[in-house]
Amino acid sequence: SVPAAILSALSAAARGGVLFKGGAALETLAAVETFAFDKTGTLTTGRASVTRVLAFDGDEDGFLSLLAGVEAQSEHHIAAAIRRAATARGITPAPVAETVNRPGKGIVGTDALGTVWAGNPYLAAEMDADLGHPALAALDTGSQTLVYLGRGPQLLGAITVADEARASAAPALAALRTGGVRRIVMMTGDRRPVALRIGRELGLHPEQIHAAMLPEDKVREMAALAERGRVAFVGDGVNDAAALARADVGIAMGAAGSEVALQAADVALLSEDLRRLAEAHRLSRRTARIIR
Ligand code: ADP
Ligand code: MG
Repeated sequence: SVPAAILSALSAAARGGVLFKGGAALETLAAVETFAFDKTGTLTTGRASVTRVLAFDGDEDGFLSLLAGVEAQSEHHIAAAIRRAATARGITPAPVAETVNRPGKGIVGTDALGTVWAGNPYLAAEMDADLGHPALAALDTGSQTLVYLGRGPQLLGAITVADEARASAAPALAALRTGGVRRIVMMTGDRRPVALRIGRELGLHPEQIHAAMLPEDKVREMAALAERGRVAFVGDGVNDAAALARADVGIAMGAAGSEVALQAADVALLSEDLRRLAEAHRLSRRTARIIR
């Protein structure tokens, strides 16, 4: 039977919006030495906005219409930002069918003329698209995410997307350290300059930041970290599901996170406030001391 101390800790955590799938996850959390965090939608708000649009043919509205069409079915934060940008300009998404998510890379679909895609350099490389267009250099401020739009191997242009660190992220990381967590790392599919900017705001050192990671890279890094003790992973996306499953304690952002992430996780964080997570960690440690 589950000790009373654990039951009462589970219900206290639940009142703070942290739902454990069982008492074992609470006990394991107490022993976690390393916390690995996804960036987008986890350490950042995920409420991104489109900041610049570069359409090589000069037709920004047509470009945004096709881009919004490709992203129409995606639950990614970038997709939501693109749909909001299109709506704000009164642009209707172009019809795009058969869209398939490519976790960590972007999304691919089909329209009347063939394959259309939106994503990062990994996806562009798969499509044999050339990212050497001179206008792209001016678009790249270094600290924002670039999303490329292409039709087959032809690059049509790109947008920049900006996202901000959650206000609760820095205090939550500090509280985890004070609470005895030895290592904190960030693992993101986004590119390194963006990851470094957010990391700096959160007091993370460059060595603690892993960027341009595909879902399988996150799993591999989790295995490496696991050699040094118990590891928790905190994430929100489809791209995080494998890392969440691999973690000793998988923690999914519940409010705006994806269904797949929630299913793979041991803990759901219903609050957007990451300090609730640090509180749950402290609670797990206190409980472990009581029942031992
Ligand atoms: P993170 O690990 O930071 O949560 P993801 O793995 O979800 O990021 O995404 C990694 C990168 O893949 C994004 O920064 C973006 O460049 C690209 N990407 C993923 N999904 C999409 C999408 N639906 N549209 C455009 N780009 C995408
Ligand atoms: Mg994410």
